[in-house]
Amino acid sequence: MDKDQTKPIYVTRPSMPPYEEFCREIASLWDTRFLTNFGEKHNRLEQALAGYLGVENFVLTVNGHLALETAVEAMELAGEVITSPFTFASSTHALVRHGLTPVFCDVRKDTFTMDADLIEPLITEKTTAILPVHVYGVPCEVTRIDEIANKHHLKVLYDAAHAFGVRVGGVPIATYGDISMFSFHATKVFHTIEGGGLAVNHAACLQRLNLVKRFGIPAGEDALLAGTNAKMNEFQAAMGLCNLPLADQSIAERKRVCERYDAHFTNVSGIQLLPDMPEVTRNYSYYPIIFHDAFGKTRDEVCAALEAEQIYPRKYFCPPTNRLTCYRDKGYRGETPISDELSERVLCLPLYAELTNGDADRIARLILNKSK
Ligand SMILES: *Cc1c(COP(=O)(O)O)cnc(C)c1O
Repeated sequence: MDKDQTKPIYVTRPSMPPYEEFCREIASLWDTRFLTNFGEKHNRLEQALAGYLGVENFVLTVNGHLALETAVEAMELAGEVITSPFTFASSTHALVRHGLTPVFCDVRKDTFTMDADLIEPLITEKTTAILPVHVYGVPCEVTRIDEIANKHHLKVLYDAAHAFGVRVGGVPIATYGDISMFSFHATKVFHTIEGGGLAVNHAACLQRLNLVKRFGIPAGEDALLAGTNAKMNEFQAAMGLCNLPLADQSIAERKRVCERYDAHFTNVSGIQLLPDMPEVTRNYSYYPIIFHDAFGKTRDEVCAALEAEQIYPRKYFCPPTNRLTCYRDKGYRGETPISDELSERVLCLPLYAELTNGDADRIARLILNKSK
């Protein structure tokens, strides 16, 4: 092995725009001193993202989690919300922090997303919404979920944090449901350092979302509701304006890495990869592997072997949110055996635009125990 191959490899590495370009974008701020509060860059980025994501309206926020909380608040959800436990803590926190009761719907073995067959039995007179997650950028069963929601008069808020730019049969993912939340955290496919936002399908919601986002204060000093502060500042927006034109190239590089991994792992006994999704325009945001018994090594053994070589994959999502210390004894409804099993077997491999084919080969060989 080459000596220079021994630097640590993390699960992700943020894409950066050319340094000079970012400097050019932020230079005007030293004149205007307009650093935040619906600034010119913020407004320009909202327009650009609505265009890129193929939706009428986009509301930017300071991070993805506060986008979720802003939506939960503005949609006036109450009682119970049916959600997936196979996700990052944020999805469930956003409900619990607003006094809602999460009801956990299990996921499908093949797609890792909420199993639409299991939703209706969980609906009670207290249910007001469904919060599904397009985990790893795999689209949920969007048409069926919309049908179930319409039939039972439920709202649908998608956690689309992983689904930037994903399309189903050419249709942008965010056009399904009422609102979709995106995260623009540094670790995501497209980032604004920290950041996030909401793709909104009903213009009627917009005013309320923007009100919640700014303390409930429309103008002047009086507050109409107990809002929060979820505004994105101009430095974040500048990073977004510089990164957005590079997003497609970054996704193409991720595709290259994924195909390199696929060449090693496809048809290996005991290894399960993301499902084939011929109708989906993917964003290559994550490369999860499920290690079944037939593989001969456990997920934890594979992870330890990689870490010994200074390669740091991540066990996304272990534990699932309904098993987190803060939730596991709460008695929330929902049997989730598939989510539990996936969380014990899943490992997300390093994946970012600058990961070389050589590094992908080395990682794959270590997992497969091949010497060359
Ligand atoms: C990243 C992420 C969030 C939270 O977004 P932030 O921008 O980090 O606040 C929520 N849900 C999922 C599934 C995520 O991966």
